[in-house]
Amino acid sequence: MQIMQGIWLCIHVSGVLVAFFLLASILRQRESDYKSRLIMTIICCMIALVSRSLFIMAQDMPEMIALGKTEYCGKCFANFLALSFVLSYYRVKWPRWVMQTLFGINLVAFAVIMTCNYHHLYYTSYQVVPTNSGNILVLGKAPFYYFYMAFCLVEMVLYLYICFHPAYQQDREGSRAIRGLLTMAGVVPFLMLLLYLSGVTGGFDTTPLGIFFSVLFLFTAVNRYGLFDTVQNAKEAVIESMDEGIIVSDNNMKFLYANPSACELFPEMRLGEGQISESEIQAIYEQTGTVIELKDKSYEIRTSEVRDDVQVRGYMLSVIDVTDMMAQAKEMRELKEKAENASRAKSAFLANMSHEIRTPMNAILGMTEIALRGRLQSQQRDAIEQIKMASLTLVTIINDILDFSKMESGKLEIVEADYDIKGLVQDVYHLISGKVEEKNLRLEISIDPTMPRILHGDEIRVKQVLINLVNNAVKFTEQGSINLSVTYERKEDQVELRCSVKDTGIGIKEEDLERIFNSFEQSDTFRNRKKEGSGLGLAISRQLVHLMGGEIHVASEYQKGSEFSFEIPQRIVDESACGALELAERQSRPQQSSAQYQNFRAPQAKVLVVDDNLVNRKVAAGLMRPFAMQVDTAKSGEEAIRMVQEKEYHLIFMDHMMPDMDGVETTHMIRSLEGEYYQKVPIIALTANALSGVKEMFLAEGMNDFVAKPINIKELSEKILTWLPFELLEDP
Ligand code: ADP
Repeated sequence: MQIMQGIWLCIHVSGVLVAFFLLASILRQRESDYKSRLIMTIICCMIALVSRSLFIMAQDMPEMIALGKTEYCGKCFANFLALSFVLSYYRVKWPRWVMQTLFGINLVAFAVIMTCNYHHLYYTSYQVVPTNSGNILVLGKAPFYYFYMAFCLVEMVLYLYICFHPAYQQDREGSRAIRGLLTMAGVVPFLMLLLYLSGVTGGFDTTPLGIFFSVLFLFTAVNRYGLFDTVQNAKEAVIESMDEGIIVSDNNMKFLYANPSACELFPEMRLGEGQISESEIQAIYEQTGTVIELKDKSYEIRTSEVRDDVQVRGYMLSVIDVTDMMAQAKEMRELKEKAENASRAKSAFLANMSHEIRTPMNAILGMTEIALRGRLQSQQRDAIEQIKMASLTLVTIINDILDFSKMESGKLEIVEADYDIKGLVQDVYHLISGKVEEKNLRLEISIDPTMPRILHGDEIRVKQVLINLVNNAVKFTEQGSINLSVTYERKEDQVELRCSVKDTGIGIKEEDLERIFNSFEQSDTFRNRKKEGSGLGLAISRQLVHLMGGEIHVASEYQKGSEFSFEIPQRIVDESACGALELAERQSRPQQSSAQYQNFRAPQAKVLVVDDNLVNRKVAAGLMRPFAMQVDTAKSGEEAIRMVQEKEYHLIFMDHMMPDMDGVETTHMIRSLEGEYYQKVPIIALTANALSGVKEMFLAEGMNDFVAKPINIKELSEKILTWLPFELLEDP
């Protein structure tokens, strides 16, 4: 055997051994879509190499012809398999018919070669020629041979085209090295075939070696870069197919990778590295957390660090389509705004209506009060008393509605001051005892006599809650008793004030217990049909108790009775015990609550009432008649200013809402007049605006005090006593 022949043989046999090793190694790898293609390529390579090794050793022509044909078993399909491998790696999908045509041509060529002894379409003749490299077979080539060789070259060029086409490039980690290896796997057999066809190899067929190197490069790419790693592949496939754009940079903001979605949004990334600068990546990075507009859609940029155990290696920028989310958020905002506007409008409407209703109520209540003072037949007195009672109920409802609107807009406030707890309980007693007697119910009322005398809290609101609970108890009880008890538990410098209202009334069904604290809810509507009420009392009470830092509870047995109770912390101001309740006074003055007022006379006192409404002027003047003062009235701010300059009044009652110049402006004008008198004359605001904070507003505007409409005669008399000079007062 010649030396060259020996060397060729060694090379080919080594190739066989290496290919065998590669095959064994691939078979042990995990499944992937490249695996079968690579295995078949290696098998083709082995067939070609084994055949070529035997061919080198072959002595006679028939043997050489047979081995030459066997070699084609590998050669015919190796190129096709390598092409399909690279297509699969770059996820390029060619139409099925293209692949079928390519495979078909190889198959036909293989068939033609196998049968060429019969038709000579591929080879026309064979001749054995001995050379340095051993015997070679000199072949007479038919046209189909040239066609098929050209086809093989085209197949290889297609392979290289896939490797180099920019659209198919993926800029992921290691992709450049993979591309390099895959390119070599295409270039080497291409060159080997060219060398053989050009005759440089002296007729020695180097294509099996070309296939061998191709397999070697493919194997390296697969093995070194884990193309068989299913999990890795799956991750990559997920990233590639995500709607979210993913951009990866190194820690110097150098572009590394962008998935197809990101490439669509930022086309400059499509061409890969180098086309997008660090500053552009930095610009995207800096928009982290913000929403950007791209192609009529909204995207949010999120950034996360890509780090190994030691340090940050780069950044991953996610570009997330938030168009739908933004649209929904916008819709929600609009809906919220609408709901808030509606709620505001409702609260404003309620506050406004309560103001509007208060003004005529002032006239009704004031006039009934005045009428009741005159000489009346008992039937007339009775009728007017009824009007008065109904009006007072109406005022309570209006107050509830106003409180409710304040509650809704979060404006319900607690105004704390020192108060006498026993006095509070007595007031409640006086207010409800008449009603209790009317229904022939028994009223048991008690206060722990050791209770500290003076507490600090919102007396009006505590009283409001208690009155509401007791009123309900009276309303829903037809026989038996009502028990109001006020106890306490000492806690450092505070007491936990406990008020409980128990009745033997109709009770509440268990399923209604939670509902009754909701606004406008009345349990068992049918049963309550004849009971008046807005269904707001308990909702307001609960809110008030919460605002005072306490809790309200209910326990009830249907048809047996209910117990409502609440506890609130109140600071102790005076430790001394309040002592037992004194209720004797009430017994002698039943139903006198509204008629109670400070009795005095002040014939020298000059009082001015400013109100644009004639009836209200009459009401105010009429209510003050028992005090025998000199009451003048003015129907506008201008008139009032003129009058105060003509006569020195001791006291001015000033309506708030007046058409041209309102009470506040009129007060400013009076205060700005020359002379000490104008600074000092007491001005008391009269207003139907009962919103919290108005008193403070009036004081800040230069007024001295505040009386709410409908005017309560007791309150009015107290204010007059407070502000009139002492020397003008006489006993009645
Ligand atoms: P209103 O009394 O104006 O209807 P509330 O909010 O004060 O509204 O009470 C809500 C509902 O709770 C009442 O309609 C009634 O059904 C029930 N309720 C309240 N107190 C009692 C009670 N003492 N006994 C029976 N039912 C009661």
